[in-house]
Amino acid sequence: MSVLPRHGENGTKVRDCDVVVVGGGPGGSSAAAWLARAGRQVALFERDEFPRFHIGESLLASVNDALDAIGADSLVRNAGFPQKWGATFMLADGANERYADFSIASGVRAPQTWQVPRATFDHLLLKHAADSGALVHERHRVLEVEFDRAGVTLTVQGPDGERWPVRAKAIIDASGRAGLLSRKFSLRVDEPRLKNVAIFSHYAGVPRPSGRRSGDIRIVACRNLGWFWIIPITETLTSVGVVLPQAAVKAIPSLEPAALLERMIADTPAVARLLEAATREWPVRVEKDYSFSSRAYAGDRWVLVGDAGSFLDPMFSTGVAIALESAVEGAQAVEKGLATGDLSARRFARFARRQLRRYRSFRRFVIGFYTPEFRDLFFTAVPPPRIFRSLVTIFAGYWHPSFRTRAWVRAFFLLVRLQRYVRVASPVVSNPDRARARKAIA
Ligand SMILES: Cc1cc2nc3c(=O)[nH]c(=O)nc-3n(C[C@H](O)[C@H](O)[C@H](O)COP(=O)(O)OP(=O)(O)OC[C@H]3O[C@@H](n4cnc5c(N)ncnc54)[C@H](O)[C@@H]3O)c2cc1C
Repeated sequence: MSVLPRHGENGTKVRDCDVVVVGGGPGGSSAAAWLARAGRQVALFERDEFPRFHIGESLLASVNDALDAIGADSLVRNAGFPQKWGATFMLADGANERYADFSIASGVRAPQTWQVPRATFDHLLLKHAADSGALVHERHRVLEVEFDRAGVTLTVQGPDGERWPVRAKAIIDASGRAGLLSRKFSLRVDEPRLKNVAIFSHYAGVPRPSGRRSGDIRIVACRNLGWFWIIPITETLTSVGVVLPQAAVKAIPSLEPAALLERMIADTPAVARLLEAATREWPVRVEKDYSFSSRAYAGDRWVLVGDAGSFLDPMFSTGVAIALESAVEGAQAVEKGLATGDLSARRFARFARRQLRRYRSFRRFVIGFYTPEFRDLFFTAVPPPRIFRSLVTIFAGYWHPSFRTRAWVRAFFLLVRLQRYVRVASPVVSNPDRARARKAIA
């Protein structure tokens, strides 16, 4: 193994290591922590200085497995984040409330998870990567990556503007939606059916249920097939955001983001009631065009983890769960490659297949939620318990559950398809809203 000088120590810079990780979000920190704990020399470059704001605050139960794998479970448990046991879904007027408690689902090892201010959560994981032995460099941007038969050369730019080359055997790209390698190799595949806009901020004074459900996410379906998230991220602050199909946004006379958010709140009675006495504590932010997949998730000496590979609309809060799980699997694949001296695309084929399957499994739920038929079935007055429990397993982040659970999920989607032609469930979306919704997602 190479000897890795620490940046800044005696004026030296990292020039050589086993693996470079690009990006210090949850994906990059987890991959770096796992490999460093396996004894590899890892250098992580993060362009920003932490703590920094990031959206994506609601975690899934499956995150517990990944945190365990990198030795960060007790760190997160002791950080004082609000506890999340599941999600409550409801219609715009607050009717047909569905409570998805992760503990009713089969195959969920540890049902309780967290809601996190990402600035704090990401910083915690980045420090954990450093404590695990990775050489973490904040305010260092990776500008270029070149591959040759013997390794990878990255051009890194430090905070003083100076550039220098870093040599590694493999690279884990965890650069998020910036997509360093995805852009280099033109891998990105857009999701035209998920052309959505998210408008969000943080509020104080949003009432919470008492007891065990106080930390849960609430998801409120809008009439135009958009939806709201309401996530308690600290004792006092609640993240509130609305996601709308871009076509629905265009149909609304041009409003500034803050005014559009206000308008959507006013148009959604369940949210308007909750925010009656709330005050907005942050500027309103907007994100759009954020759903995409990838033509490939790995190649010779590289793997893509988290958003650097693909990202799905936040409907089921899958982003961080996918980032952590793929980071651990990506790190394990690279470790095997280093151990056997084979870092070829062929060695990473299993990792890449799982990445694609993970994405596709969640994708059909996300796409489904923007259709009236899915909502009719999901919000049906008395949901069949076995089907509902199976859906909750997926909502907890377990995208590849047991055969039996998969069979119930399949049955649900069959009913959704039938609903297009015959009335399997009473419609919860009115006819005019159905017509508008169809136009918005056409
Ligand atoms: C509106 C919205 C709501 C969301 N809500 C949720 C939610 O409730 N729950 C959830 O789980 N997920 C949610 N997500 C998704 C979640 O934010 C992401 O999936 C998650 O952050 C992915 O982690 P990551 O580590 O892959 O990427 P990131 O967290 O984006 O980290 C990538 C890092 O790479 C760094 N970087 C980029 N380029 C370079 C470079 N060239 N050199 C060095 N560093 C670089 C960046 O500065 C960044 O820190 C949401 C997303 C959106 C858009």
